[in-house]
Amino acid sequence: MEQITVKASQSSYKVSVGAGIRHKLSEFLPKSYQNVFVVTDTSIAPHYLDDYVSSLLPDAKITKKIIKPGEAAKNKDVYFDILDSMFEAELDRKALVLALGGGVIGDLAGFVASTYMRGIDFVQLPTTILAHDSSVGGKVAINHETGKNLIGSFYPPVAVVYDVDTITTLPEKEVRSGYAELIKEAYIGNAGFLSQLLDREKLDKENEEQLVQDLSFGIRVKTKIVEADEKENDLRKFLNLGHTLGHAIEAEAGYGTFTHGEAVAIGMLFALELSEKRFGADLRLDEFRSWMERNNYPLQLPDLSADRLVKRMQMDKKSENKEVHMVLLRKIGDPVTEKVDHDTLYNAVTSFLERMRRA
Ligand code: ADP
Ligand code: ZN
Repeated sequence: MEQITVKASQSSYKVSVGAGIRHKLSEFLPKSYQNVFVVTDTSIAPHYLDDYVSSLLPDAKITKKIIKPGEAAKNKDVYFDILDSMFEAELDRKALVLALGGGVIGDLAGFVASTYMRGIDFVQLPTTILAHDSSVGGKVAINHETGKNLIGSFYPPVAVVYDVDTITTLPEKEVRSGYAELIKEAYIGNAGFLSQLLDREKLDKENEEQLVQDLSFGIRVKTKIVEADEKENDLRKFLNLGHTLGHAIEAEAGYGTFTHGEAVAIGMLFALELSEKRFGADLRLDEFRSWMERNNYPLQLPDLSADRLVKRMQMDKKSENKEVHMVLLRKIGDPVTEKVDHDTLYNAVTSFLERMRRA
């Protein structure tokens, strides 16, 4: 088992990553809770809900809220419905919310916890690889018609209990999605971890020891950046490596066509190419492409318009006055935010799309 302490400005909490730790949940909680409210979804509940719940105090009052899976649940109706259930269960300020699931459940249940009676404790129990990312940094949110995660706050959990056994039932597409963020973190902050990932034949969700190591590496890179960012406001931006084009492709291809991580992997390929061109560094591009290929990341893109992609990139939150700022790498482990002028960007995107159509 690995434990990583995350320091937030007001508090700090532990992320515990291990195999089988869902059977020992109480040991990881900062205190014992009499009243517990669990939020999960219908894909996860049949596998893991009982294991987690039966490891709590025998006399604790437990209320279960099982919702439909998927990003669509992060809306105001589901949010209010959960609050209604919490009032019905008569939770007081000393109650605990357990968020059992991936990023969707973490964001939603975390936001609920942050607003119920001005905030009660919550604990994340991630069941996806991607959720390693959202388990650090304390961002919680729901979506608005205008865009994703627009209603939310910073509200760190009191603990994160990450049982890697739960990954065994995760669909391959979601495994791929999560590993894209892990390899991103390796590129930003850990060359040794990057070598391990690139040298490996295939992603393997059955190898518990390896999952514990990989998730811990990713969490450590992210923790370091998020903690340092409280002083230096620019560092968090580095976590957007691959996301400028990635987000644009995700939206332009239509949400659901690619998972978030698949789109990010494509965006990273683009950012790494641009970085090599600009800084002349060796970023192990061929190995990265082959890693994507071996693990069935999409390397063929549908017909997308370069013009529309660039327009979306200009709307990215890092951009100022339509000037696109992208995270690039001077070398492995050395990210920078760089301004990319319109023509350079347009030409690079056009050429990238052309190659990805033939790939
Ligand atoms: P993330 O945002 O962390 O990628 P989501 O919360 O969107 O993940 O979950 C992705 C999908 O995978 C959802 O449909 C969810 O119900 C399902 N899922 C999450 N964890 C597991 C698991 N351990 N086993 C099976 N299905 C899972
Ligand atoms: Zn991401």
